Amino acid sequence: MATFDLLVLPGDGIGVEVTSAAQRVLDTVGRRFKHTFRSASAAVGGVSIDNPGAPPRAETTALARKADAVLFGAVGGPKWDDAPVRPEAAILGLRKALGLFANIRPVKIFPGMEEASPVKNDRVNGVDLIIIRELTGGLYYGKPKRRWTTKAGRQGVDAMRYSEREVDRIMRTAFELARTRSRRVTSVDKANVLEVSRMWREVANDVAKDYPDVTLEHQLVDSCAMLLVTRPASFDVLVMGNMFGDILSDEAAVITGSLGMLPSASLAGLPRSGGGRRRAVRGLYEPIHGTAPDIAGQSKANPLGAILSAAFMLQYSFGLAEEAHVVNAAVEGALAEGLRTADLAPAGARAVSTEQMTDAVAAGVEAA
Ligand code: NAD
Repeated sequence: MATFDLLVLPGDGIGVEVTSAAQRVLDTVGRRFKHTFRSASAAVGGVSIDNPGAPPRAETTALARKADAVLFGAVGGPKWDDAPVRPEAAILGLRKALGLFANIRPVKIFPGMEEASPVKNDRVNGVDLIIIRELTGGLYYGKPKRRWTTKAGRQGVDAMRYSEREVDRIMRTAFELARTRSRRVTSVDKANVLEVSRMWREVANDVAKDYPDVTLEHQLVDSCAMLLVTRPASFDVLVMGNMFGDILSDEAAVITGSLGMLPSASLAGLPRSGGGRRRAVRGLYEPIHGTAPDIAGQSKANPLGAILSAAFMLQYSFGLAEEAHVVNAAVEGALAEGLRTADLAPAGARAVSTEQMTDAVAAGVEAA
């Protein structure tokens, strides 16, 4: 029996619908396992741009710092495409303020869902991998970062820079996660060309010495991109820098067939394993999809990405592994019963609403 504080930031469009679904499932977990999830919420993204009374970003960040975890929906939409402050600034600012350097994206094909994949069924059977992307360094943040003009024309530069400390901590996150799974880590780099990747690989090998029970292999990013399509089921935990992770995690997401199914967590690392219950870590949890303006407000959104993000939160930020397992099993159960939201339903088949899918998962948690 425990009490946890969570900050809910629904954002815009279907962000509101799916975070509400995830909260409903968390409430059911609370009743079933006798935990209390106390939640506060705040406006972020487009809604906060529209509402002059919305709390300033610093206030939302302070609320996030006080909470045990943050559940985020999605932000943005055509209405704010030309706004002077982009709605996405909310999420980028929070990740930075909370020091969330590890982005964790599982890609799992649930039994019976192989048909939804654009990749041949026999290749995606049993896919259950996790991509860990370094989130606060690398090419997107390295200096120099600028554009200039010479007599010969325009030029531009971005730098892919990593420090040993940054590589060490993301590697440890990968190895710790691998210890909770099948103890295999694939580190992705471009060590045949880039100096930064050669350093990345050296540090990965150094960290591996502290984890003799985990197997480390290295893959070049270009061949990894091919293998993710040709034999995705052969991977377990993959770890990579910011840009490689940005690209490969979207590629891997596509093989599941629907963006609506996929959760994510951004964490300030994982505590070192070794005896006893895992210490909780601060994290921000969100489905990987956006605000889906084309279906917003129509009860068509697939809530499973947000619900699975809540399961992640139970596991990593609240240390409630059994409860997380029950939510994951309830999702699997709802899919096994044949329930499909519109994004998953084959042409001509009946689709259930956001609420019906959520009810089925909540019922599964209740019955566990
Ligand atoms: P999107 O993910 O919102 O939608 C892409 C397609 O997938 C749409 O057809 C949509 O209906 C469908 N889809 C997405 N999630 C679904 C779900 N849960 N259930 C059923 N169908 C779902 O991507 P987009 O259309 O490129 O972007 C729309 C807006 O969202 C943009 O303003 C974009 O900037 C923003 N966005 C925000 C985030 C975030 O907040 N993390 C991420 C991506 C995009």
